[in-house]
Amino acid sequence: MSALTDLIFAGSNAVAGLTEGAVNDAIAKYGADAKIAFPDTAYFFPTIYAATGVKVQKLGDLPACVEVLKSLISNKPELGDALNAGLATAVGAEILEGLKFADGAQPYADEAGIGFVPDPIIRSLGVPLVTGDIPGVAVVLGKADDAADVAKVVKDYQSKGILTFLVGECIDQAIEQNVKMGLELRVVPLGHDVTSVIHVVTVAIRAALIFGNVKPGDLAALLTYTKERVPAFVNTFGALNEVVVSAGAGAIALGFPVVSDLDLGDLQVPGALESVTNHDETVKRSLELRNIKIKVKELPIPVAFASAFEGEVIRRADTQAEFVYGKNYTCELLTMRAMDEIEDHKITVDGPDIDSGAKEYSLATYIEVAGAKMQKDFESVIERKIHTWFNYMEGVMHTGQRNQFRIRISKDAYDKGLRLKHFGEVLYVMIMDEFDAVVDKCQVTMVTDPEKVNKILNEEALPAYEARDARLESMTDESVNQFYTCILCQSFAPAHCCVVTPERLGLCGAVSWLDAKATFELNPQGPSQPIPKEGCIDEKTGRYEAVDKMVHSATHGAVDTVTLYSIMEDPMTSCGCFECICGIEPLSNGFVIVNREFGGMTPTGMTFGELASMTGGGVQTPGFMGHGRRFIASPKFAAAEDGIKRIVWMPKELKDDVATRLNETALKLYGIENFCDKIADETICEDPEALMEFLTEKDHPVLSMDPLM
Ligand code: SF4
Ligand code: ZN
Repeated sequence: MSALTDLIFAGSNAVAGLTEGAVNDAIAKYGADAKIAFPDTAYFFPTIYAATGVKVQKLGDLPACVEVLKSLISNKPELGDALNAGLATAVGAEILEGLKFADGAQPYADEAGIGFVPDPIIRSLGVPLVTGDIPGVAVVLGKADDAADVAKVVKDYQSKGILTFLVGECIDQAIEQNVKMGLELRVVPLGHDVTSVIHVVTVAIRAALIFGNVKPGDLAALLTYTKERVPAFVNTFGALNEVVVSAGAGAIALGFPVVSDLDLGDLQVPGALESVTNHDETVKRSLELRNIKIKVKELPIPVAFASAFEGEVIRRADTQAEFVYGKNYTCELLTMRAMDEIEDHKITVDGPDIDSGAKEYSLATYIEVAGAKMQKDFESVIERKIHTWFNYMEGVMHTGQRNQFRIRISKDAYDKGLRLKHFGEVLYVMIMDEFDAVVDKCQVTMVTDPEKVNKILNEEALPAYEARDARLESMTDESVNQFYTCILCQSFAPAHCCVVTPERLGLCGAVSWLDAKATFELNPQGPSQPIPKEGCIDEKTGRYEAVDKMVHSATHGAVDTVTLYSIMEDPMTSCGCFECICGIEPLSNGFVIVNREFGGMTPTGMTFGELASMTGGGVQTPGFMGHGRRFIASPKFAAAEDGIKRIVWMPKELKDDVATRLNETALKLYGIENFCDKIADETICEDPEALMEFLTEKDHPVLSMDPLM
């Protein structure tokens, strides 16, 4: 043991010395009052904040942190002491990285790495992590003897949907080997300095604060959360110096096992620090160590199929063939048939395939399914997955839906042999895999003959879309007799439960009432359970005995009472992955709504990240509530507080996005014309006084409403 602990302490002491020197230099240069912050986070120096509760805001706050860091290094040759020294290295790395941002510097502007990961990105990872779409997080560090080995390991993770962060020269090795990188491709270069590994550590730490409701300063709760709920691990390539080893100890303290490609002999700690010298075994052993199971789908197609390719962009110059709405006829339709009307696994291409020499084609993706338990309502739920599954194919890009989509197929994929029949195979396999509880038979026709596509479009698809929209329109909370829970996010936010109603979708924006209903039918023991609409206690706030009872049991007693339509009284809990956050603006007595993508300031004096940090982790915070974009135009939005009439400010992009529907609701409920013109945005004002001026000028209805508090 002692050889290992010696190395760890040597590394921690070296980092402590460096950190202390760097802090003193920075204070000498910029002064103790100079502000210091990572970009776009509400969690200060996240490691320090989570572990000690200290909010680092200026350089003068750092010397005390250096003292804490040093106190973690006992130099006693026990494993527990060595792990604490590893945490000290993490704190040191955080300070060293933080100092790079001193005086407004942008240290990662010219780096291949992205450096610090902003809060909104972490929030956006919530849903893919809980659904298993991202089954784990890998940290690949160092430099391999052979660049091809790094590339192979990273691509293997990519094909499994694992989110991989690269630190050190393996970044250049991966670039050299043409690994496709970027957050949307699940391979994220962090930086070349070993200290940049802290940027993935703080992702795990902020997940604990954002989703887990871990209180800053509660180090034990933090370590339990990262160990149990963040499925991360570390792979090191090449020589290990003492700093890397002590950083590895920090990872182990957080519960992340480290796999090295060196033969560490008896330095190994089974389950925590292991040697895997054969790179062909690295991925397998790493996944085993975190008990990550990957469902492999065998698809008879010539290109890779993985969630990691969902965000792949295909440029025009790289495009072999495309299907573009507006230029050609396009539609996608999934329709329900009787059992004897279709033939299972019949896949047909009707019209020219993409090897006909043309570049642009019409396309109807026409799917017919039959099943004893199939329902009309599930058609749109399954159909919407076409987008996801087509994107999973490497070399295929799909945007849009229904009759307005664009598909591009890359030259590379075409050269590998990808043709339209493979699209049919993908749909068949995935539908039978995910929807086997309701689909017994499935038949797919990829129609490219323009006349036939036009016929399907006009005679079947458009009328079907219209009927579905009418059905959605008519579906109100009053018109159904049950709501649904969704507890998918409990793997990160153990005390959270969404109540999904027809007029209020899940706060992630991804789960509508129909989706929840389908989830329940597909998996009766699954994350969505029906709530009978019984025992109405308060119609205005939307309080029901049955909802309270269900939420109480779904959150294991953490939440007793939830209202469906109030922001001020027992609002719905927030897990952390909400699309938007709504909060009170006290001067106007109105609500400000901000979406995750907006990085600027709001009249509440807080950014999205800061507002978002007011709630989350499954707690209820009256006055603040996370919600989906679509909920904004709902007649049920904050209905107990007089609803949408209180909305005073939204980022312009969000306002434009919801304007048509929001204006309609305002006109229907309150007779207000062009309501969105009365709502301010960042191009109009960012402070409460200017907001009041604007609202007065526009005669906003909030001005004559009762105070919220
Ligand atoms: Fe998570 Fe709620 Fe979305 Fe379900 S509906 S995935 S619990 S945010
Ligand atoms: Zn969530």
